[in-house]
Amino acid sequence: MSSTAASPTCCSTNACTDTFTPEDRARLQADVEAYCQELRPIEEICYLEHKFNPAIAELANKHRILGMPVPKKYGGRGADSITYARALSRINREGSGPRTFFSGQTSIGQYPVMRYGTEDQKQRYLPASCVGKCTMAFGLTEPDAGSNPLEGTTTYRREGDKFLINGVKYLISNGTLADAIVLFAFPEGATGAARRMSAFIVDTAGDTFEKEQLHAKPGMFTCDTAMFQMTEHPVRADNLLGKEGEGFRIAMHTLVSGRLSVASGCLGSIEDCLTECIEYCRTRKQHGKEIGKHQLVQDHLAKIEMARATSEAMIERAALAKQASDENPGCAERYADADFKVAQAKFFASNAAWEACDHAVQIFGGRGWSELYRPFRHLQDVRVCRIYEGTDEIMKMKIAVKLLGKDYEAFR
Ligand SMILES: Cc1cc2nc3c(=O)[nH]c(=O)nc-3n(C[C@H](O)[C@H](O)[C@H](O)COP(=O)(O)OP(=O)(O)OC[C@H]3O[C@@H](n4cnc5c(N)ncnc54)[C@H](O)[C@@H]3O)c2cc1C
Repeated sequence: MSSTAASPTCCSTNACTDTFTPEDRARLQADVEAYCQELRPIEEICYLEHKFNPAIAELANKHRILGMPVPKKYGGRGADSITYARALSRINREGSGPRTFFSGQTSIGQYPVMRYGTEDQKQRYLPASCVGKCTMAFGLTEPDAGSNPLEGTTTYRREGDKFLINGVKYLISNGTLADAIVLFAFPEGATGAARRMSAFIVDTAGDTFEKEQLHAKPGMFTCDTAMFQMTEHPVRADNLLGKEGEGFRIAMHTLVSGRLSVASGCLGSIEDCLTECIEYCRTRKQHGKEIGKHQLVQDHLAKIEMARATSEAMIERAALAKQASDENPGCAERYADADFKVAQAKFFASNAAWEACDHAVQIFGGRGWSELYRPFRHLQDVRVCRIYEGTDEIMKMKIAVKLLGKDYEAFR
């Protein structure tokens, strides 16, 4: 994919402060490739043992990919949206677990700080997060508030030079690893129009922040999914992210970034299944010939390839739209375009990946139904991509409302 985003008219993000050259792109792609090759054998063992893989983050630091789109002046690589999306696809060939770590760290962790942070907040969090000294996460979901975050019950109140936060966040990627979490809460006791969500950068240190890994999951064993409880948890006043009451907008903008990561990851699962299946079709023999010579097996292979080609095209147009929006943060039109195209890409690629992985499992026959082989690992990992960062249903409603107009919003 190549970057052809429209030139900016106004901006505050990396696109204007950094020059991401073709040489930078080639170096980053080489680093991502080296990372993936070094990670693969470790990831395989951890996956088979259903264990968290600490090498996902450690090797990312070694290969300097902990802040791919973070501006160079804050210690990142300054990558554009298309390059970052391609990197996530490549990483997801190793599994959705590793890619989900990058989503939490970068797409929904560093991104809102890059976009809404003060200069002081950027200086305090971005350089540290790019060198493995501050793992990041995004805490929106609660036990009783998923698709509708406005039903959240986490609260904050101001006391002197700090805010005190109370509440529980649930199903948070990197939730026990994170040193800092971009987190959302409502003013304590507020009702009606005063009940507006705010965003905070929350340092997780201290016994007022209790965290727990969630192990009962049928895939993505190697990454961290967690819940945590905050009890009078102190947050410095200058860690309010954006303006008070601006949290919902920050959350929605951040989810566009997160959804592009999910879509890109799904493409990686499809690509890896395709590679595995081509090899298997050429080597596995039944009825006296390679199974790739049976036309019904070719049907599966053709469908995986079509899932790959169409998902790639959807992701490229979504990444270009997001790049154009990031370069023009004040432009509502470009944001709406990015929001729509990213929702389309996320909905399409996550369903395409689910079906493509199923075709790959079928090609592998009895070996397909085994975690020892890559297709089944992708199949069980990729199912969650139709749920997190906005479910299939929420994506479909978003797409339909764009066609019908805001009067048709299901939430009204
Ligand atoms: C592995 C994993 C990692 C995650 N990581 C993060 C993270 O890092 N940070 C974070 O904040 N969250 C994270 N999440 C949470 C995730 O984003 C939510 O699970 C998701 O948004 C859905 O919310 P829910 O689970 O509460 O489902 P619900 O909102 O309860 O939905 C249940 C069902 O009802 C449907 N539904 C809900 N409302 C409507 C409607 N209006 N119309 C039609 N159908 C509707 C949904 O589509 C779904 O099918 C993660 C989840 C998982 C599983």
